[in-house]
Amino acid sequence: MQSWPSPAVPEIDGTGPALRLYDTSDALVKPVAPGSVATMYVCGITPYDATHLGHAATYLAFDTVNRVLRDQGHEVHYVQNITDVDDPLFERAERDGIDWRDLGTRETNLFRSDMENLRILPPRDYIGAIESVDEVIAAVGALLKSGAAYAVDDAEFPDIYFRSGATGVFGYESNYDRATMETLFAERGGDPDRPGKRDPIDALLWRAARPGEPSWPAPFGAGRPGWHIECSVIALNRLGEGFDIQGGGSDLIFPHHEYSAAHGEALAQQRRFARHYVHTGMIGLDGEKMSKSLGNLVLVSTLCAAGVDPRIIRLGLLDGHYRADRMWTEAALGVAAERLTMWQRAVARESGPAAAAVIARVRTHLANDLDTPKALVAIDGWAKSALAGIGSASGAPDQIVGIVDALLGVDLRSAHPPRPVD
Ligand code: ZN
Repeated sequence: MQSWPSPAVPEIDGTGPALRLYDTSDALVKPVAPGSVATMYVCGITPYDATHLGHAATYLAFDTVNRVLRDQGHEVHYVQNITDVDDPLFERAERDGIDWRDLGTRETNLFRSDMENLRILPPRDYIGAIESVDEVIAAVGALLKSGAAYAVDDAEFPDIYFRSGATGVFGYESNYDRATMETLFAERGGDPDRPGKRDPIDALLWRAARPGEPSWPAPFGAGRPGWHIECSVIALNRLGEGFDIQGGGSDLIFPHHEYSAAHGEALAQQRRFARHYVHTGMIGLDGEKMSKSLGNLVLVSTLCAAGVDPRIIRLGLLDGHYRADRMWTEAALGVAAERLTMWQRAVARESGPAAAAVIARVRTHLANDLDTPKALVAIDGWAKSALAGIGSASGAPDQIVGIVDALLGVDLRSAHPPRPVD
């Protein structure tokens, strides 16, 4: 699948401290410590609805990780999937009377233009579930052979499930107790009541073909992939075992990341699918949870179409810590707009305070579990001083433009008009 065009990322002199991030599994902030090539997988969208601010916040957090790792001299191999075969897609297509493939294509195009407008660096590999069906079939075959998977005793629909106990370490990623797992499994796409399962929380690997649903031929019977195995194979086959970062929203901690890890570990016979499991908080609106059922989703495309500069959206989201559940408000948008204007006015001056100390502070804050709010405050301090006429470093405005572009993804000197939706 084609991703989206990459914005240019300026290289900045020097380097900051090594990146440390909170790992959900170990429940602590620890060094990411990648090799020369950092490897990162972030779960992509199911393309049945447009990108809302919660999605944007997640991809922006991992974009910041990407930028910090690059700034530290790493090459970043970034992989993302797109779940273009799944129940929510079929249900929405049916409701709206359109073909599920057309719906998927339309929403994927909208997502790409949202990412481009927000200046999110694209994944190197952007892989659809449909594109990875052959990889899934090979994996399900291997899991059946090793005994990690089984087909339910149902002659008509012999669905294939993963034995949650197959790896012996199931549950280490989320650290949730059994009762929490059962609740979340039922709430988030699981099927605890399916007759024939050995354990109610065993996850679907391969759904046998049903009338009216897409299916692909396989040695163990025609069908389509379950949700988690797609991410396991796309990540393993491109990044290898024990890659650096598995990322997504906190609603993916269980069951999705627990199972994509367990599937991957059973396939590769390894202890740990990813070294870091990194999760972003949820974005609410004006004191309420942002959700489809409440009808209060704020869409990136709607904001852009209303003329909001995507840089303001970016700065508004970066003003909160990525792990915190937090609220989006009109006021937050106003604060971000004022900040952008102040920074632009400051860098338009011929000189300002020397930039080196500010650049060092920004790097230090970001390396400390992506403390973006403090990084913004560091730039504020420089901008306020520059506007007050303090400092005579003539190269400083250009250096600030550079660091803000490279690490925060905001080009202060561009008009950056939103790209129209195709
Ligand atoms: Zn995933």
